[in-house]
Amino acid sequence: MASNKTKRFLLSENDIPTQWYNIQAEMPNKPIPAVNPQTKEPLKAEDLYPVFCEECSRQEFDQQNKWIPIPEAVREQYKCYRSTPLVRAYGLEKALGTPAHIYFKNESVSPVGSHKLNSALAQAYYCKQEGVTNMTTETGAGQWGTALSYAAQAFGIEAAVYQVKISYEQKPYRRSLMQTFGAQVTPSPSMSTRAGKDILTKEPNNQGSLGTAISEAIELARMTPHCKYVLGSVLSHVTLHQTVIGLEAEKQMEMAGEYPDVVIACFGGGSNFGGISFPFLRHNLSGERHTRFIAAEPAACPKLTKGEFRLDYGDVAGYTPLLPMYTLGHDFMPANIHAGGLRYHGAGTIVSQLLKDGLIEAVDITQPDSFAAGVLFARTEGIVPAPESCHAIAATINEANRCKETGEEKVILFNLSGHGLIDMTAYDNYLAGNLG
Ligand SMILES: *Cc1c(COP(=O)(O)O)cnc(C)c1O
Repeated sequence: MASNKTKRFLLSENDIPTQWYNIQAEMPNKPIPAVNPQTKEPLKAEDLYPVFCEECSRQEFDQQNKWIPIPEAVREQYKCYRSTPLVRAYGLEKALGTPAHIYFKNESVSPVGSHKLNSALAQAYYCKQEGVTNMTTETGAGQWGTALSYAAQAFGIEAAVYQVKISYEQKPYRRSLMQTFGAQVTPSPSMSTRAGKDILTKEPNNQGSLGTAISEAIELARMTPHCKYVLGSVLSHVTLHQTVIGLEAEKQMEMAGEYPDVVIACFGGGSNFGGISFPFLRHNLSGERHTRFIAAEPAACPKLTKGEFRLDYGDVAGYTPLLPMYTLGHDFMPANIHAGGLRYHGAGTIVSQLLKDGLIEAVDITQPDSFAAGVLFARTEGIVPAPESCHAIAATINEANRCKETGEEKVILFNLSGHGLIDMTAYDNYLAGNLG
């Protein structure tokens, strides 16, 4: 039993989980199937094979197997940074004067600075197993592209990343990171695809968008032998891989002798939120526990709090299947907030169903509130959080302040999805008073 002043709870390498948790097998209402927009038929795993690797396609639709083995080679790679620490935020608690116990799972310690590597490594491994030689993807701010570049290198696969042109120019360090890990990075729109050419012919100065970059990456995957497309959020298999976060946290909370009353994560497409939440949510589903789960999204892109539950496309151009999700509409253009990873118009299908069924909650956070929370966290816990993660911290502070009013000693766990050391321009803007 640990003393109650322990700061960080660490697991040994042997305690890195050997299985991911597939919540689809236990949901009271399964996600309704995605639909092929041409045939209107429900989508099957085979429909994804031309673009995604087969194992990930199967995992996407697996509603039977509760536990999915983590391949040994992926666990070996996880050892480079896992387990990640569970940290008691004594400094933040003190600054808030709250009776709440605040813990955070520190995913920022991964070599790429975010949780995204947990799925990138799995996807690269399965691609390698299936004889894939090239992977392609899109990236906005560059977090996912960086994770994929690292993972491709780890498994000996070539990576081609289409980076939204404006980010390519404004965030040179994430581009350098991707190139350092050996990826080929192309600003999108580019002349290397039809989708890109079409846009540049009409509009030579187009600054790019995630929707266009997705179209370019999918086109490259379709046109190139042994090349697969990979995605860093939204899809169910991505969230499955992220459950390693919550499974570790469950063991670490046990070391701390506590169990969370509230679990909080920021929300882009849902992978880090699902990753930390689902392993705890399974004890709600079985009736043993009554934890609350809060997804914190930006007020500028409020799909969970203000969106509509319906079938919608995953991309701007409408190339993807129709997915049942909370959405602001696939042509929704969010303001250019600094939390680039939270600007997606829709939510993953599992999280959408859970929200519809009242099993999770959502809140929205304004940009100034998110940075105020991030700065307080940096000053009290010593870690500069990613602009995305700041939303989880702001929601945590709101809960902790409520505990101060009621005197409740609640246990709050949040996911620190990444650090902000490559996002200091955003902090500069905040500190200069330019965020309104
Ligand atoms: C991409 C990203 C997110 C948002 O993606 P989810 O799939 O919702 O987790 C959050 N935080 C960081 C640091 C990211 O890189």
